[in-house]
Amino acid sequence: MVRSGVTNWSLRVAGERLRIKLRRTVSLRLACRAVVMRNKEPLVSFTFDDFPCSALLEGGSILETYSLRGTFFASLGLMGTTAPTGAIFGVSDLHKLIQKEHEIGCHTFNHYNAWETAPSEFQASIVQNREALDRYLPGAFFRNFSYPISCPRPRTKRMMSKYFDCCRGGGQTLNAGSLDLNFLKAFFLEKSSGDFDSIARLIERNSRERGWLIFATHDVSKRPTKFGCTPQFFEQVVRCAISSGATILTVCGALEKVRGKPSHASASELALDRRASGAKPAP
Ligand SMILES: [Zn+2]
Repeated sequence: MVRSGVTNWSLRVAGERLRIKLRRTVSLRLACRAVVMRNKEPLVSFTFDDFPCSALLEGGSILETYSLRGTFFASLGLMGTTAPTGAIFGVSDLHKLIQKEHEIGCHTFNHYNAWETAPSEFQASIVQNREALDRYLPGAFFRNFSYPISCPRPRTKRMMSKYFDCCRGGGQTLNAGSLDLNFLKAFFLEKSSGDFDSIARLIERNSRERGWLIFATHDVSKRPTKFGCTPQFFEQVVRCAISSGATILTVCGALEKVRGKPSHASASELALDRRASGAKPAP
């Protein structure tokens, strides 16, 4: 009886793993926007999903210490709430992010699962997030995106080029040679289980292959959730990336290098330009 229960459970786990693997294969192979990478130097970016207050307070501050900037993917529908990744940013954090010249990216308004959500609903949530951002940071807009929770359905992935210069997923690896603008690969720090050596090896490989290594995480705190990391660990990775000689840029900044041509001003730059030109601050 017990043995049969265990067998059923094992079969369910194996089935679920296979389902996720198939989704991932379909997602990666279809609806691609392929680009040959033209960057002359290895690139590294630091990104934060959701973004919990601690990501900006701790992670952002560490980057600023080294005169670096990060990309923060926001779901404005989560603003002021407590999510599994911790206490989520408030309006004042949005202003702080812009003041500190970090970059803001879209993560849908509702933090919708990229595979489970119907493409039309997913699209409506992207538009809703854009409208909400314009209310809080007039003139600012999202140039890039990260898929919440899961890889996207091909139909969802296909429509992203209408809204964003590039979209980030996961995959625990770097981008090299060519990349898919509809699915940039990224490495989630929390999935390393604190194994710094494997990260150091990946940074080294990124230098050798002149790639673009995009790190991702959620909260950065002394007692992180299972989706985050500690400030010490985060800083160790930042220092390793710096000493590798890679150029460390926001997602928009790195994309310019990848394309080998300048792209438009980032949302942060636009908001700053607007402030400098005397536009009223958001309520
Ligand atoms: Zn998320």
